[in-house]
Amino acid sequence: MLTLTTAAEMRQWAESVRCEGRTIGFVPTMGALHHGHASLMRAARVGCDRVVVSVFVNPTQFGPQEDFDRYPRTMDADRALCEGEHVDVLFTPTVTDLYPPGASTVVDVGPLGTVLCGASRPGHFRGVATVVAKLFAIVHPHRTYFGQKDYQQTVVIRRVVEDLRFGVEVVVCPTVREPDGIAASSRNAYLAPEERKTAGKLFQALSEAVRLIASGERSAGKIREALGVLLGGQTGARVEYIALVHPETLEPVEQLTGRIVVALAVWIGRTRLIDNAVIEVENE
Ligand code: AMP
Repeated sequence: MLTLTTAAEMRQWAESVRCEGRTIGFVPTMGALHHGHASLMRAARVGCDRVVVSVFVNPTQFGPQEDFDRYPRTMDADRALCEGEHVDVLFTPTVTDLYPPGASTVVDVGPLGTVLCGASRPGHFRGVATVVAKLFAIVHPHRTYFGQKDYQQTVVIRRVVEDLRFGVEVVVCPTVREPDGIAASSRNAYLAPEERKTAGKLFQALSEAVRLIASGERSAGKIREALGVLLGGQTGARVEYIALVHPETLEPVEQLTGRIVVALAVWIGRTRLIDNAVIEVENE
């Protein structure tokens, strides 16, 4: 596995691979890699001739009061995980390489970036869209792999790829979970053992939504209420949102029909966790 640290080296490698007629699969990450990230690498390994993983803790997607400084950085373990997944290139650019002095261009996805997580994290999706656009311009992948765990992010990235005509295929892979149902996340490392138990309630709440819909409930309000009781009753937990939305527009739905997304954001102590379920609602 090659480790490349500059945009110039990365671009040159990608161009030579393309000249050989081979395909590039790209997995952008912020590091602190776990088996959720590994599942994306495996999908890329199966779907493409060459696999590039980037590790870059992107400052522009963190708000001033957020966890940029304390975000876990575990480069040696990350490198080992990538090697184990037969990644071809680990790309670890520096902040100045992606944001050269005077950088002022941003990618703003509009309303898709201001709802759900965007409502409490202003500028977050602008930061995500901007860094991913830069990475696409450097890595020039054929396919890129994202996790369903960050559902809104997948919608934002699809929009960016479509609007800016990147010509990259966006592949969304299922959420990888721990045995207790909690979605694997780099931020789980922040949780104390008691908080970890509470975090399991997110998956239970999503399972409850699936159960209610399967038993015929079609009112989003009723489902929000039930999930609110389940999550709100936990000590140390604070619900930021419980939303039932359209899978592409992310607009709220009230009467459930077709495909919908149940999305949650919950604070457990100082840690903000998100999770979601995509549900196919059967017409009666
Ligand atoms: P991050 O390093 O948190 O920015 O995540 C990098 C990529 O890994 C994103 O596309 C995430 O959606 C994806 N990812 C993170 N956790 C999981 C998970 N539990 N299952 C599947 N994909 C994940």
